[in-house]
Amino acid sequence: MGSLSQMVRWMALRPGLRTLSSASHTAPPANGYSFELNATQKEFQELARKFAAEEIIPRAAEYDRTMEYPWDLVKKAWSLGLMNNHVPEHCGGLGMSVFDGCLIAEELAYGCSGVKTAIEGSGLGQTPVLLAGSKEQQKKYLGRLLEEPLVAAYCVTEPGAGSDVSGLKTRAERKGDEYILNGQKMWITNGGVANWYFVLARTDPNPKASAGKAFTGFIVERDSPGLTPGRKEINMGQRCSDTRGITFEDVRVPKENVLIGEGAGFKIAMGAFDNTRPPVASGAVGLAQRCLDEAAKYAIERKAFGVPIAQHQAVSFMLADMAIGIETARLAWMRAAWEVDQGRRNSFHASIAKAFASDVANKCATDAVQIFGGNGFNSEYPVEKLMRDAKIYQIYEGTSQIQRLIISRAIVDKAMGK
Ligand SMILES: Cc1cc2nc3c(=O)[nH]c(=O)nc-3n(C[C@H](O)[C@H](O)[C@H](O)COP(=O)(O)OP(=O)(O)OC[C@H]3O[C@@H](n4cnc5c(N)ncnc54)[C@H](O)[C@@H]3O)c2cc1C
Repeated sequence: MGSLSQMVRWMALRPGLRTLSSASHTAPPANGYSFELNATQKEFQELARKFAAEEIIPRAAEYDRTMEYPWDLVKKAWSLGLMNNHVPEHCGGLGMSVFDGCLIAEELAYGCSGVKTAIEGSGLGQTPVLLAGSKEQQKKYLGRLLEEPLVAAYCVTEPGAGSDVSGLKTRAERKGDEYILNGQKMWITNGGVANWYFVLARTDPNPKASAGKAFTGFIVERDSPGLTPGRKEINMGQRCSDTRGITFEDVRVPKENVLIGEGAGFKIAMGAFDNTRPPVASGAVGLAQRCLDEAAKYAIERKAFGVPIAQHQAVSFMLADMAIGIETARLAWMRAAWEVDQGRRNSFHASIAKAFASDVANKCATDAVQIFGGNGFNSEYPVEKLMRDAKIYQIYEGTSQIQRLIISRAIVDKAMGK
């Protein structure tokens, strides 16, 4: 395949591609094992790879420096069909599988995981509507994202509660046909640029009410009076992604924007992670793969003691360990994505993939910096950014400790015969 623009033209000449994609919804065949991607998956992977190489990589350092939201890349990704692919067909979307979305996410993160988070953050915001929205809600809010390049956001975390979602304080009070939202959210990806938000708020004022009944999920329009995004946070890495606090002061939300019904919010918000943790894991793998490729390239060029440093076993074994981590983390996201695409509960596998891939990304980034020596510590070379970008994978969408909590609970439940 030629340049990106040639490829886009080629895809435009293939009107069957959209139907083909949804027809081949699940990745590998349902029975037996297959490590072969189908033709459509290869096409999307190739498109995303070219987009990363030709559009993202040349701009990533500049976006990291300016911390500007990468609107032009988001718009290009939108026009190429590299985002919103999960939107169902009845809204005009592709209804793409989680597995296929992960393939794209890995390639985008290879280019820049900050840009990938800017794009994927919208996917996170959309997932509760995808999983729990009525046909009308889906058509209105997911369909809107196909009409023009707009993004969504997922508002759960608050200044006082992240891992402990049951400790959220944002309140929603029913008044006639509306709910009135008051509270404060924190660390919201796309917080300042989203067109609409998924918001989790407490509707049962009884502090003893169980999390499974106390919270409700809402779709909230960005231009709602009383909704104010805070300043853009200055983060360690993934700096072009837009992270903000959001204040809700008497924000009126029509009852039509409740997902499923009062009390269903906690399950919806947590259930979304089964779909979104695999692409977070695949993003971490993309970053890790970039670390390996940069480190290998450097190791064959840089000489020490008369030979390329790749010939020193201590260096080449670091490369080998990076490859071991990457290959196994890739299999882990594939398993997690495949499980959920089969319609099965995948929380256990999604947590394994997310925790493992995040750790692999951080190890690969640290080792890549090590292989670059002094140059690795300097912003003229690509790997210091990769190391800063990697850290967030162990924190957002559930910290590595929370993933281990989920995995260990599943093991104990199984051992107890539950
Ligand atoms: C850049 C960025 C983007 C984000 N994007 C979003 C977003 O789009 N939407 C959104 O809703 N949130 C978002 N978050 C929030 C993110 O999901 C939370 O920061 C994360 O879940 C951790 O919550 P916390 O920061 O409150 O830490 P805490 O929950 O206070 O945890 C602090 C430490 O204690 C550990 N810990 C807590 N409880 C336990 C336990 N039971 N057992 C063991 N260890 C524990 C944690 O693992 C962590 O190491 C984002 C955060 C960042 C930094």
